[in-house]
Amino acid sequence: MFVNRIILIYLRFFFCGFAIWMVAFYFLFSTPTTAVTSQDLPPLKSYPLPATLVQWQDPSNNDDYLDQVEVQDVGYLIWSEFPIKVYVESSNNDESRSGQWVKTVVDAIWEWNTYLPLQVVDNPEIADIKIFNKRPPLRPGKLRARSAETRYQLYQDENGILSHNFVILLSPMQVGKYLPAAARHEFGHALGIWGHSPEKTDVMYYSQVAEPPPISSRDINTLKKIYLQTTRIGSKLP
Ligand SMILES: [Zn+2]
Repeated sequence: MFVNRIILIYLRFFFCGFAIWMVAFYFLFSTPTTAVTSQDLPPLKSYPLPATLVQWQDPSNNDDYLDQVEVQDVGYLIWSEFPIKVYVESSNNDESRSGQWVKTVVDAIWEWNTYLPLQVVDNPEIADIKIFNKRPPLRPGKLRARSAETRYQLYQDENGILSHNFVILLSPMQVGKYLPAAARHEFGHALGIWGHSPEKTDVMYYSQVAEPPPISSRDINTLKKIYLQTTRIGSKLP
């Protein structure tokens, strides 16, 4: 029992194959020493479902895995301003390979554009989600290098709105079909699917598989349910 539990926790958090999401959870305030407690946060609020998700009807009547999605102190990690701005940078010095890397990543994440509107931007400063061709750092005590990582941070924008943004690191070691698979999966986290599917046929399955699947109806059913939930993100801080 105990060993099973350890393995489960290990699988869930550390064996992700291509995705272990470590939460970087900082508030960036003008006075960095200000402690933020939950009563300083805006109340939970729901937003109208984006039209792209209203339109989505599952032809196969499949279920979802909302129960695997983690709720944060700020509620669900929901975007309420569209299009979501995405910046993709390649750190590879070889120009043609770098261009190919960016194209592969953009093509892969663009598959989500059907469900939530995206915009690729050249300026990382204004991006909601930034993607880098960079190996995720090793974590203390872990010898196994991870191939991808997604983390988010919370901040107060210039209008006093509680906002979030994401950084995705994709290892340059990811090649062939695994690069788009990793990009597609990590981007699903950044759209708010903060958890993993237990089924191999879903993009958000916790481990890398030999034949990476396209975005499944279960992935979209889950995304749609998330966007019907509540969040503190997007509201003015008290
Ligand atoms: Zn993941």
